[in-house]
Amino acid sequence: MANNPFQNAMTTLSIVTKRIGLDAGITKQLRQPKRIMEFQIPLRRDDGSVDVLTAYRVQYNDARGPFKGGIRFHPDVSLSEVKALSFWMAVKCAVGDIPYGGGKGGVIVDPHKLSEGELERLSRAYVRGIAQYIGPDVDVPAPDVYTTPKIMAWMVDEYSKLTGRWQPATFTGKPVGLGGSLGRETSTAQGGVYVIDAMVKKLGWKPAATRVAVQGFGNVGFHTARILFEKGYQIVAVSDSKGGIVAKNGKPMNPAHVMTTKLARGKIDGVYCVGTVCDAKNYSPITNKKLLELPVDILIPAALENQITAANAGRIKAKAIVEMANGPITPEADVKLWKRKITVVPDVLANSGGVIGSYYEWVQNRTGDEWSEKEVFGKIEPRMIKAFNDIWAMGNNEKIDLRTAAYQIAIGRIAKAMTLRGMA
Ligand code: NAD
Repeated sequence: MANNPFQNAMTTLSIVTKRIGLDAGITKQLRQPKRIMEFQIPLRRDDGSVDVLTAYRVQYNDARGPFKGGIRFHPDVSLSEVKALSFWMAVKCAVGDIPYGGGKGGVIVDPHKLSEGELERLSRAYVRGIAQYIGPDVDVPAPDVYTTPKIMAWMVDEYSKLTGRWQPATFTGKPVGLGGSLGRETSTAQGGVYVIDAMVKKLGWKPAATRVAVQGFGNVGFHTARILFEKGYQIVAVSDSKGGIVAKNGKPMNPAHVMTTKLARGKIDGVYCVGTVCDAKNYSPITNKKLLELPVDILIPAALENQITAANAGRIKAKAIVEMANGPITPEADVKLWKRKITVVPDVLANSGGVIGSYYEWVQNRTGDEWSEKEVFGKIEPRMIKAFNDIWAMGNNEKIDLRTAAYQIAIGRIAKAMTLRGMA
C-alpha cells in the first residue's frame, strides 16, 4: 500500500472499530473530517514578486471540545497528511483525556527559504484565511514542524487585531511573556520521557544500560535526547534532515554538545554537514536510513511520517520504538514489528505531552492564572502515567499492540461523547 498518511490512519481506525463493534453511524463520521479548508495565500516576496501558496486547516472532530492541533510549514505538506494529523490529534486528546477534539493545519512552503519579514507575512495571512473558523471555544492551533513560538506570537496578534480584543487562548505554544506557559516548549519531550521511564521500568531495564537512537533533532528530538541523557540513558546516535552521527566504540554522546556544534557555524546551503548534527566531530556519520536499523534498546523517530515501512520493518533491531514523531510507522510495518515482538509506544501516547502542555497553557489563559514550570509538569506527569498504565494493561490483558489499545480507549471516549451529544 502507498504510504498515504490518511489511508494509514483509517487502516488503524478500521482495526479498532471492528474490534469494539462501534456503531455504524459513528464509524462513518469518524472516517472523514467535519470540515476541510483549503485556500491560497498570495505571499509578497521581498523582491516584489508574489508566490501563491496552498494552505490547509482540517477540523476533524470536536465531540469532546474545540478542535486542537498544530500548523506545519513544510514543502511536503499535503491534504492527506493534514487530514491524518488532524485525526491523530482527536485520538491523542482522547488518550490524554483532555477536553479537546482534533484539528491540524499546514502550508506547502519551505520556510527556510523565506526572510523573517516573508515568514511574518505568511503567518499573518494564514490566520486571516482561517480566522472565522477558530477561537478559544472553536479551534485552537499551535506550532508543529517548522513553526515556532515566534510564529504563534504573530498569529495571536493577527487574530486579536481581527477580532478587536486580546485572545491569547486561541493559540498555544506562544512565547512566555505573551501568554505562553512555562514548560510548553519542552512538554512534548518531557512527556515522552515520562512514558519511556515507565516503559523501561515495566521491562525491567536500567536507564544507564539503555542505548537510545534518535531520528530528528528539532524541538522534540533534541529535547528528548537531552532529557534522557540527563537521566543517565546512553544516547548513541542522532540525526537531522541532512544526516546523522553514531557513537564510535560504543561511547555515548551528550546531545547538548551536539546542538552547540550544530549551531556553531550556521547552516551553509549545499555544503554537506555544516550546521547540522553531523558537523559534530568524534562520531561516525550515518544516514537516516541506517540509523533506524541500529541495534539499540530504544529507537525514537522524532522527525516525519512513514520512516518505518513494510520495506525496512524486518531490519529494525531496536527492542522498543517510541514514536515521538506523528505517524512514523505504517500499519504494514506495525504488523511486522508486532510479530517480531518489538514494543511500539504509539505517537498518540508518546508525544501527547505537547498537547497536554498546550491544554494547561489554554487553561491559564482562560483563568488569567500563571503557573510555575514545576506546577505545569506536576499536572502533565500523572496524566501521562495514567494513560501509559491503562494502555499497557489493556495491551497485556487483550494481547494487542499498544497502538490498538490506545485507539480502543480513545475511540471509546470520542464515541461516548458523540453519543451523549446525540451525534450518533
Ligand atoms: P522541528 O521542526 O522542531 O524539528 C524537525 C526535525 O526533523 C529537524 O531536526 C529536522 O532537521 C528533522 N528532519 C526533517 N526532515 C527529516 C528527514 N527527512 N529525516 C530526518 N530528520 C528530518 O519539529 P518538531 O516540533 O520537533 O516535530 C517533530 C515531530 O514531532 C513531528 O512529527 C511533529 O508532528 C511531532 N510532534 C511535535 C510536537 C511539538 O510539540 N513540537 C508535539 C507532538 C508531535
